[in-house]
Amino acid sequence: MIFLKTDEEIELMREANRLVGMTLGEIAKHIKPGVTPAFLNKIAEQFIRDHGAIPSFLGYKGAPGSIDFPGAICASVNDQVVHGLPTEYELKDGDIISIDCGTELNGFCGDSAYTFCVGEVSEEVKQLLRTTKESLYKGIEKAVAGNRVGDISEAVQTYCEKRGYSVVRELVGHGIGRKMHEAPEVPNYGRHGVGPLLKKGMCIAIEPMINMGSKNVVFERDGWTVRTKDFKPSAHFEHTIAIRDGKADILSTFEFAEAVTGDKPVII
Ligand code: MG
Ligand code: MG
Repeated sequence: MIFLKTDEEIELMREANRLVGMTLGEIAKHIKPGVTPAFLNKIAEQFIRDHGAIPSFLGYKGAPGSIDFPGAICASVNDQVVHGLPTEYELKDGDIISIDCGTELNGFCGDSAYTFCVGEVSEEVKQLLRTTKESLYKGIEKAVAGNRVGDISEAVQTYCEKRGYSVVRELVGHGIGRKMHEAPEVPNYGRHGVGPLLKKGMCIAIEPMINMGSKNVVFERDGWTVRTKDFKPSAHFEHTIAIRDGKADILSTFEFAEAVTGDKPVII
């Protein structure tokens, strides 16, 4: 079942998502060679709690038999696609790290992700990051009432594949509201004109996971980490948005992260 949100509920969602954006900015300040994902996780959890919210990823139930998620952020390095654990790995010059963060504030959830460079990253990898971020906004452009989920999916897929990258199939975006994961699923691949109809008041997380090499991924034995099968890098950017009659209303924000990294914002 897809829950439509009232304007008041969307404003509460904006607060939860703004806090995620602020948290990504806070984390960005600390990303450099020598720092560990575990340290970044500590910063994130404290920051979220200091703002009166709950880190919604912490304790999240995974697949049967796997541990509950042990962090406030997912930290996925290089060939890790998503759901990386906040480990004691020391970041090094040339790495990339995708930080996915979720909050619950006033009963509503925020969810957003950004892929950061550690020190000097190769131009080839930077291009993967730029394209993935741009593809997110290509999807957002199609996220208007009257369109279908497949319009978003095709826009993301076409943009990335035209540039020689591949789209992960096993993981998708999602509806979001009082729960972090609600209906509908929002794949990053598909065909325009198919899938659920987008209606005013729907809130969804759009989150392209884009690989430099092949689209194939493997699930690590820790029960969480997803990485590329060919060990080539993968990028992940995510916004939570509300569907309106006109342009989509982006509830999360990269402004705090981009203020730290100097990355160029995508304007649509
Ligand atoms: Mg997320
Ligand atoms: Mg998500």
